[in-house]
Amino acid sequence: MRQRVDSPGRSGRLLLLDLDGTIVDIQAEPGEAAIDASTLVALANLAAPDPLGLVIVTGRSLADADRMLGPLKLPIIASHGAEARVRGFSLLEAGPSIAAVREGIEEIAARCPGVLVEWKPYSAAFHFRAVPEVGPRVWEALCAFTQACPAFRIQGGRMVFEVVPTGISKALAVEHLLQVPRYSRRRPIYVGDDPADEAAMAIVEAVGGTALRVAGEHFGPSVADFDGPAAVRTWLAALLADTDEIGGSVKAAIVGG
Ligand SMILES: [Mg+2]
Repeated sequence: MRQRVDSPGRSGRLLLLDLDGTIVDIQAEPGEAAIDASTLVALANLAAPDPLGLVIVTGRSLADADRMLGPLKLPIIASHGAEARVRGFSLLEAGPSIAAVREGIEEIAARCPGVLVEWKPYSAAFHFRAVPEVGPRVWEALCAFTQACPAFRIQGGRMVFEVVPTGISKALAVEHLLQVPRYSRRRPIYVGDDPADEAAMAIVEAVGGTALRVAGEHFGPSVADFDGPAAVRTWLAALLADTDEIGGSVKAAIVGG
């Protein structure tokens, strides 16, 4: 595990947190993923004194993420940027509805037994964690699909391929967020675990921010900053203790690495 320490400089941090595989353990069924009470308390305590210092960035829908984070109502970018609850953030244009291509998606699902298809408001995710050997077949079918329907692209994840509109991505969303004046002056720290996060991390690093990688099928131990979501949760709790002042610099040394 790498050791990394942030240098303070800008006026306060901006913690950008993915949910699944980052602060929440990945489950076989996405609906089973849950955030433990102590992590909710840590998030609440991080956000309360500095509401501009924390934004959740997730591919889940806003309603689903709110359900997981309840009773908290945190600033959030959801559905890869097609939904958000962040003042000043302009939503990304999702373009054609995923419902319009439902038939094609269901036809592919029928050819991939054992794959769990998760319907979201703007996308459809093919989870093949239970049948990893079917992954290449899903990929092939989705490649043909997106070639025929160029308004959609494939977003790779951890044992999941998601069909998303080409106009939305976490990277674009983070790029937009960092142009909102109230956020642009902050020092972004992005924590994530999969390819969608990696693209957003590149945006954050390009503006001098910090990207912290969570180990899993995407980031191997040699590049990861955290062993898994449990280490991120420990780090969040430690951030609270290490906050020098409200909205001020935070010692972001990696703990538990
Ligand atoms: Mg994730």
